[in-house]
Amino acid sequence: SLKWGLIGASTIARQFMVNAIRVQADGKIAAVMSSSPERGQAYAVENNIAVAVSTLDELLAEDIDAVYISTTNELHLEQALAAIKAGKHVLCEKPLALTSADARTMVAAARAAGIVLGTNHHLRNAGAHRAMREAVAAGRIGKPIAARVFHAVYLPENLQGWRIARPEAGGGVVLDITVHDADTLRFVLGDDPVEVSAFTQSAGMAGSGLEDGAMCIWRFKSGLIAQSHEGFTTSYAGTGFEVHGSEGSLIASNVMTQKPVGTVMLRTASGEEELSFDHEDLYVRSVRRFHAAIHGDGQPAATGEDGIWSLASAEAALQSASSGKAIKIDPKL
Ligand code: NDP
Repeated sequence: SLKWGLIGASTIARQFMVNAIRVQADGKIAAVMSSSPERGQAYAVENNIAVAVSTLDELLAEDIDAVYISTTNELHLEQALAAIKAGKHVLCEKPLALTSADARTMVAAARAAGIVLGTNHHLRNAGAHRAMREAVAAGRIGKPIAARVFHAVYLPENLQGWRIARPEAGGGVVLDITVHDADTLRFVLGDDPVEVSAFTQSAGMAGSGLEDGAMCIWRFKSGLIAQSHEGFTTSYAGTGFEVHGSEGSLIASNVMTQKPVGTVMLRTASGEEELSFDHEDLYVRSVRRFHAAIHGDGQPAATGEDGIWSLASAEAALQSASSGKAIKIDPKL
């Protein structure tokens, strides 16, 4: 069996990842680490986890094979480096770190140690996005010309903490949602972004100079251009992902979400066809692929390199928004 340690008594672990690990045939959760002994203990009881610890050293001393890091973003780097040093495989939440340079440090350390490092970009695991990627690769829309991503949501009240108040923790909608959009565009298009121009706003929710809305325009290597909209303050926008090509368009609705839902329509000269796709839980598939990678079978759904790409992209978007200039994207891989 593969024994996991959870680094971070987080909402995402409680809502999705504890289950995603436990439904694997060989997945066990051995311990959870929280910086607060009381919260850690309560979290362990609530989630039926045998051991709660309050330091990283204690967690890494447990009998575990892998760690899942879902603390606030400024902590990922040092926690990942310590886990790698202790010989544990690392599935880390996005953004991998606060800067792409730090993300590169993590990826290099994992590679040197022969450790599997994955980025938990859940959307790559969505059947809808995989169906779109396959349709694009199979030429069903001809030459891809443009893409549009609609990912402005309303940040639920229970998550209106560090994301809208703590720049030093990596708050803000760009490090939260633009990273996902950059990754999903790369995944669906099978293409890499080279340049971004972005506007950000504070529309009434985020403070401390943080942005709670962003619109980005991306140029990809192939010449394709894309737009993406990320937000925390719109309740009724709905989400979507479109790719428009010379011979057809893919129009997906309600797919920028944590659930295996939504629709994907292919529109061509022969009319409209709804594409069918697999509805496996996104997080279950992420852990399944991670387990397989540990066993030497393939790569995590999103690798460390993918995490560097998405963070370098988000970083460039933030730099564009603050400088008023288009910024080149260079993951330095
Ligand atoms: P939370 O705010 O729920 O948890 C982050 C940290 O905050 C925890 O590690 C915990 O610290 C502390 N914390 C949690 N609840 C409380 C509380 N009631 N009082 C005080 N402190 C608390 O964050 P999320 O789960 O939303 O996000 C965690 C990470 O996961 C981030 O990196 C985020 O970007 C990523 N994420 C990824 C998603 C995806 O789909 N890929 C979705 C959501 C988040 P401690 O551990 O020390 O107890």
